[in-house]
Amino acid sequence: MVVVHETTSSRVVLGAGARHAVPEELERLGGARTLVVATGSARAAGDELVAALGERAVGRFDGAVVHTPVAVTATALELARAGAADSVVTIGGGSAVGLGKALVARTGLLHLTVPTTYAGSEVTPVLGETEGGVKQTRRDPGLLPRTVVYDVELTLGMPVGLTLTSAVNALAHAVEALWAQTSTAVSDALATESARLILGGLPAVLAAPRDVDARATLQQGAWLAGTCLAGVPMGLHHQLAHALGGTFDLPHAELHTLLLAHVTRYNLPFAPAAAERLAAITGSDDPAAVIGALAASYDGPRRLRDLGVPADGLASVAERVAATPYPNPAPVTVDAVLEVVRAAW
Ligand code: NAD
Repeated sequence: MVVVHETTSSRVVLGAGARHAVPEELERLGGARTLVVATGSARAAGDELVAALGERAVGRFDGAVVHTPVAVTATALELARAGAADSVVTIGGGSAVGLGKALVARTGLLHLTVPTTYAGSEVTPVLGETEGGVKQTRRDPGLLPRTVVYDVELTLGMPVGLTLTSAVNALAHAVEALWAQTSTAVSDALATESARLILGGLPAVLAAPRDVDARATLQQGAWLAGTCLAGVPMGLHHQLAHALGGTFDLPHAELHTLLLAHVTRYNLPFAPAAAERLAAITGSDDPAAVIGALAASYDGPRRLRDLGVPADGLASVAERVAATPYPNPAPVTVDAVLEVVRAAW
């Protein structure tokens, strides 16, 4: 089989306090009139940036929400146009990054992002947008943020529950890269190190959420995981997350968290190399159980039924997934998918 490996290019600046370099990094990009997008949890960082930019901050929008609804983008777009913005800085989780990408898709603004979760969108050329309850995804190298600033300090206040689910969301990118049929030596190395940093670093962060070094380890694992997501086709796990999340409007990271162990249990017997790597990383011959135990420690919805998914809605999801399957090591049949989602239900 012939395999293609593409490397994406963004400038990445990282370290404790790295957010203070944003004005200088914007200047380097050529951004002189900037719309600042900061989600609720990043309000203080947004205020700080607006003050540092002075007249170069031409607008402020705090309304980014999950799944990038086009109506929200339209409001932010009006602000960008009113301020004649040439650039956008997004500070927040995947929702803020997604809004930045949606603005870039419509305007070509220069995009610098300061991610505050482990979702990984900041290093992918992928945008998912929703309109009328339907989520559509597109991939274009032009959507990749030009500069990514990882400031670990912005993650210190992340609640334990969000830390866990967002980290497992990142782990899912690495795990799917490990069992991808088109994995390469590079993607295997990235995914292995990513899973090692996330699984190794998460317990320390959960025990001491404000530990800067432990948080930095996790953030770097998430960066690698996002890089896997950008470069390797995702399989059944991400397909189920898209199908279930889109159909029932479910929270992104929580959904990934409750699904991953079930898909891992189904896939690993068909992916011996991934199974071997994950066994070495987890120190267990049952990596799905290790992931399942992590997910079970979440203090929130842990089953699809807890998220309000109706039992009679599972079959149609399984049929849709099996009709146009993403590439996956194990066969994606209606029965097999139904078994996986029933176990997660
Ligand atoms: P999110 O951005 O919606 O954030 C979840 C919640 O956590 C929000 O209330 C937010 O304000 C809060 N939050 C964020 N950072 C925080 C912090 N450091 N401390 C405290 N609270 C914080 O969630 P997410 O999981 O990061 O992103 C989900 C969105 O990103 C979805 O729309 C998903 O489709 C998209 N996504 C896209 C890609 C891609 O490659 N295109 C990859 C991953 C996720």
